[in-house]
Amino acid sequence: MKIITYLAKLGELTLKGSNLKEFEMRLIENARLSLETVEAKISLRAGRMYIDCPESSCDAVEWTLNHLIGITGWAKTIVCEKSIESIKEVVMKLAIDEKEKGAKSFKIETKRADKSFPLNAYEVCCKAAEDVFEKKILTVDVKKPDTIIWIEIRERCFIYSYASVGHRGLPVGTSSRGLLLLSGGIDSPVAGYRMMRRGMKIDCCYFHAYPYTSDEAQKKVEELAKIIAMYGVKTNINIIPFTEVQMKIKQTCANVKSASGFPANSYTTLLLRMCMMKCASILAKHIKCKCLVTGESLGQVASQTIENMNVTESACDLPLLRPCVGLDKEEIVDTAKFIGTYETSILPYEDCCVLFSPKHPILRATHEDAWDLYNSMNIDNLIQEAFEKREVKTFSTRNYVAENFSKTN
Ligand code: ATP
Ligand code: MG
Repeated sequence: MKIITYLAKLGELTLKGSNLKEFEMRLIENARLSLETVEAKISLRAGRMYIDCPESSCDAVEWTLNHLIGITGWAKTIVCEKSIESIKEVVMKLAIDEKEKGAKSFKIETKRADKSFPLNAYEVCCKAAEDVFEKKILTVDVKKPDTIIWIEIRERCFIYSYASVGHRGLPVGTSSRGLLLLSGGIDSPVAGYRMMRRGMKIDCCYFHAYPYTSDEAQKKVEELAKIIAMYGVKTNINIIPFTEVQMKIKQTCANVKSASGFPANSYTTLLLRMCMMKCASILAKHIKCKCLVTGESLGQVASQTIENMNVTESACDLPLLRPCVGLDKEEIVDTAKFIGTYETSILPYEDCCVLFSPKHPILRATHEDAWDLYNSMNIDNLIQEAFEKREVKTFSTRNYVAENFSKTN
């Protein structure tokens, strides 16, 4: 059976010191979990991860590498004997392939990790290239080549002509766990992805206001959680029924004024945020998450002025991370498109906040007004009940691969 070898370059984790092993093991484990249902052997040597697999597993392996956080890039390699003759043969084959794909010029990059190899890196490049340009397959251009052929001489010799870019960052699971407040919008999935790239394992919670928000709205958020799980190895989404909490806020705020004279109605979105923070904090502690994560971005909407974010934050007793806080919408959209959540996020199902939004939301809330109104609602028991009634669904890379690729084996 023909065995293909993939080579992945490790990212930022290589800068680690004495705890490097732990980071490497986590990376390998994440890849292993994803590929549990297909035939593939994963190993790690000298700052490189290798995956050996039969051709039937290639799609699953490439999907895994395309979603694995912690690698800077990967390539499908040809493995050959450590002799210049074998290297030349493979380089010629790759050059012909590249020419067929439209390349006219090339260069060779050699990494000679095995210092016992008789030729140095420069000599390997020259020797390996000579037949290709003498036979006029491709011309040499070291400055702006159409294609690069990479040769890595290690315990075996790995040659490849195309390298895919990886997600970089730290392997998921090396920076504890966080609870992402996942709405159906564009921002929160991006916030989750940014934290996963810092090594955080992400669980999600979604506050659902059925029947004011539809089943489709819930399905959409589940779809987003499924995409988050593609990068996050395994992600649970907690769907929390929040209708009663929302109704209570609306009822309490109708026709009253805050302590400093604002219509209480202008505080409803902010009060809802505070309730979400309270409930998410209870859940986070229950599932051992060390922080909350939201998709808030400074100034984007009324509830995201610094004053209002400050009030929101005062309702949670865990650190609150907002990785999108300094990004503009275009940057967030670019990332959403890159990770594949954008198309789902723009589906037209309203999330609960939109339906309960006041016409004139408060822009610069005060703690006094907000907490005064909050306390007047006596809402903590409803929040606790909502937490207890949550429904949990799990998505994982393992299941994705099993459902989409395993049957080809
Ligand atoms: P997004 O695009 O992520 O929905 P947004 O710009 O629409 O963000 P808001 O609706 O003000 O902003 O929400 C701010 C943050 O609060 C969201 O990024 C998300 O983290 C959280 N959030 C809002 N609504 C919900 C919800 N129904 N369930 C869970 N989290 C929510
Ligand atoms: Mg939203």
